[in-house]
Amino acid sequence: LTRHLKSKDFLRDSGYVDGSWVGGNGTATFDVLDPATGEKLATLPEMGAAETAAAIDAAYKAQGPWAARPAKERSAILRKLHDLMIANADELAAILTAEMGKPLTDARGEILYAASYVEWYAEEAKRINGETIPAPSADKRMLVIKQPVGVVGTITPWNFPSAMIARKVAPALAVGCTVVSKPAEQTPLSALALAVLAEKAGVPAGVFNVVIGTDGPAIGKELCFNPKVRKISFTGSTEVGRILMRQCSDQIKKVSLELGGNAPFIVFDDADVDAAIEGALVSKYRNAGQTCVCANRIYVQSKIYDTFAEKLVAKVRQLSVGNGFEAGVAIGPLIEEAAIDKVEAHIADAVSKGAKVVAGGKRVDGKGTFFSPTILTGVDRTMKVAREETFGPVAPLFRFETVEDVIAQANDTEFGLAAYFYAADLKKVWKVAEALEYGMVGINTGLISSEAAPFGGIKQSGMGREGSTHGADDYLEMKYLCMGNI
Ligand code: ADP
Repeated sequence: LTRHLKSKDFLRDSGYVDGSWVGGNGTATFDVLDPATGEKLATLPEMGAAETAAAIDAAYKAQGPWAARPAKERSAILRKLHDLMIANADELAAILTAEMGKPLTDARGEILYAASYVEWYAEEAKRINGETIPAPSADKRMLVIKQPVGVVGTITPWNFPSAMIARKVAPALAVGCTVVSKPAEQTPLSALALAVLAEKAGVPAGVFNVVIGTDGPAIGKELCFNPKVRKISFTGSTEVGRILMRQCSDQIKKVSLELGGNAPFIVFDDADVDAAIEGALVSKYRNAGQTCVCANRIYVQSKIYDTFAEKLVAKVRQLSVGNGFEAGVAIGPLIEEAAIDKVEAHIADAVSKGAKVVAGGKRVDGKGTFFSPTILTGVDRTMKVAREETFGPVAPLFRFETVEDVIAQANDTEFGLAAYFYAADLKKVWKVAEALEYGMVGINTGLISSEAAPFGGIKQSGMGREGSTHGADDYLEMKYLCMGNI
């Protein structure tokens, strides 16, 4: 990794608590690996429940003074953090590619995307306005103020090691919360690099803490059951989200959850097919299919099904698979062996029930966890690819006949994060947009994420929103003040 870096400034080998770089209990360690080569990138100390409790104490102590700072000061510190992220984007991107595998240009894109949330909430920090309410009686005055919830525990996944943290930490810090952050065990280095920058930007000790370790359940329990933590913000699987919500129910602790998806991507026969192909490529194969908003089920209307499949196959064959540090690579490795197993199982299940592999379908030989971009045709709803999130570069193409039929199929899932469709007729666009049971709908586009928009799901894809003016609400409490006898 160091050969891709100008300096070692951002490479840390310990956790960050109360403004200090700290280790675990001094004995246990874990390794961070490069999924493209299997090479060891770093050995880090295991932190567990005790270290998490210490971080929570630090965050608790720091919260009052941080919230008491004028909003403009918090805003200026976040602005500085944003500027530092931009100035050091190449270094941060190299660390991200090394530990996660995505192509370097995508990693750089993620750093800029992460920074955009920090910038957005640096601006929002100054606009946490309350309200006044006309009182129903003459002797009263009624108003609402907004206050930070307190200490926030964040738990984030490996697929966007930088952006998922920024999306939570930026609004939390902006409104006066302090944070104990637990990054994924596969990608802790990006989180530690952010802590280096936070320190440089002037984030005070205790306001942003990073706890690292492989015992997610132990760290998670401490965050959920420690009464000093007032809110958990989690991005990851629905399965773990359910555990955290259950654990938080004891203390009625607030939760924000960004969970799994099973995104439908629908192409109607009046759509611009070439635009839909481009949209499908970014929505399906970005991050090697490892995003919660990736198209998981592609529905193509009967009349254009064969043309669409043919054109998509031609494009997919051009996608180059390889080490994210190599120029021109579009698809990096999957995060680990288990991810390959899942992709292979989904393909085998589909093929056994009659699907055809028309592109890819196989693991790439050699070192690393690479899988060739795959397209399946002749897919139907009895197959695993119809029900479960594949989280890999596999595009199953379903054939459909009518608008009603495809809406029913698209909604036939417990998930409700993102959906996409391509159509030209305005009447149909409105009908489908309103009928899809999803938190986010891309219409004639495969890319929907933006710091200016509320990102989040319905049904079992979660609760709460990240980004936009709404994203701050997840970290705020409303307090109603009633003044009498006036
Ligand atoms: P993924 O499949 O993307 O790895 P997970 O939901 O398993 O999704 O992981 C997301 C994050 O949740 C990671 O930081 C992981 O360490 C953490 N995690 C896993 N299990 C638990 C748990 N029981 N309690 C708290 N955090 C957990």
